Amino acid sequence: MKAHIDQLFEKSDLSDKALLALLDGMSDDDVHYLFESARRKKQLHYGDSVYMRGLIEFTNYCKQRCAYCGIRADNGQVERYRLNKAQILQCCEEGHALGYRTFVLQGGEDPFYTDDRLVDIIRSIKSSFSDCAVTLSVGERSRESYMRLKEAGANRYLLRHETASPSLYASLHPGMSQENRIQCLYTLKSLGYQVGAGFMVGLPNQTHADLVADLRFLKQLSPEMVGIGPFIPQKDTPLGQVPHGSVRMTLIMVALTRLLLPQVLLPSTTALGTLDSKGREKALRAGANVVMPNLSPTDVREQYALYDNKICTGDEAAHCRQCIERRIVSAGFRVDMGRGDHPDYQTSSVEISPEKRYADIIRLA
Ligand code: SAH
Repeated sequence: MKAHIDQLFEKSDLSDKALLALLDGMSDDDVHYLFESARRKKQLHYGDSVYMRGLIEFTNYCKQRCAYCGIRADNGQVERYRLNKAQILQCCEEGHALGYRTFVLQGGEDPFYTDDRLVDIIRSIKSSFSDCAVTLSVGERSRESYMRLKEAGANRYLLRHETASPSLYASLHPGMSQENRIQCLYTLKSLGYQVGAGFMVGLPNQTHADLVADLRFLKQLSPEMVGIGPFIPQKDTPLGQVPHGSVRMTLIMVALTRLLLPQVLLPSTTALGTLDSKGREKALRAGANVVMPNLSPTDVREQYALYDNKICTGDEAAHCRQCIERRIVSAGFRVDMGRGDHPDYQTSSVEISPEKRYADIIRLA
């Protein structure tokens, strides 16, 4: 097993067969070696830095019916909410004062947020906080829509592929198409977004071969970011009684992803912290280098319950900021409050709008 891990470290790739052998047969000692290798790889590209992203969960309305998700359209137990532009800007204001330079706007697929409304929100954020990156995570939209949001100033887009297995995907996403989701990821890439894919570990009937397919998909897509978390049941969903995914297997997938995509921005997810009080620290020590503390208003946090027992729902943004920093330092790393763009996208830290650039040129001439 160690020879496979060494090969993966050196070549940033490994055959599907060898990946499967790792998933099927690693001892605790091998897993330890894997985590250490992933940590070393992270260190080579990012040193001790861990990037912070401020997460704003701005709507829990959703038209989709993903079987695992607590905010699915069919869940009548959820009290629905939307944040308006002023409330979102207030979250950014608070986040900016705490040092955040990336805001992640995440929500269900909520038709209320038309392109016009999102464009207006993105423009306002970018004009008030021109030193910040805006990341969107609002599901599947048309190419034209992604284009308009990009033009408005969005920099990055998170759209997990959820699972690369066609049969598993179909069974979990009634009325949705895996092909379309994958097409969305490629469209986002072609439009110049920094793109995040990712998947859940421990979905019902998910096999090790399915997880290898997830890794292979990631290697092919080569996204700038990858979100990996354990599946956790939410009681009012069709999967409410299914056991949660394993922390160990999730950490293994984090480490393998770091070795397959050495420069990837890889969050240590809240779902890991929910299942294991030291889960996020463990992920940082297995190759993760991003954390996404919550900036959503505390009075709506409970309502954004994708799964049960989600942590930090009662904490103020400032508290989350401090708590996460303590965890990062205790794991042996340091907080980096920079924008934390992917290395291939580090052109300048402050973006200059085309209008401003033009005005500068005229003034100089
Ligand atoms: N509507 C957006 C955002 C989805 S929520 C989109 O379609 O991309 C963000 C992520 O939470 C999902 O991509 C999914 O991977 C994860 N998630 C949802 N329900 C979950 C559950 N029960 N357990 C673990 N992760 C879950």
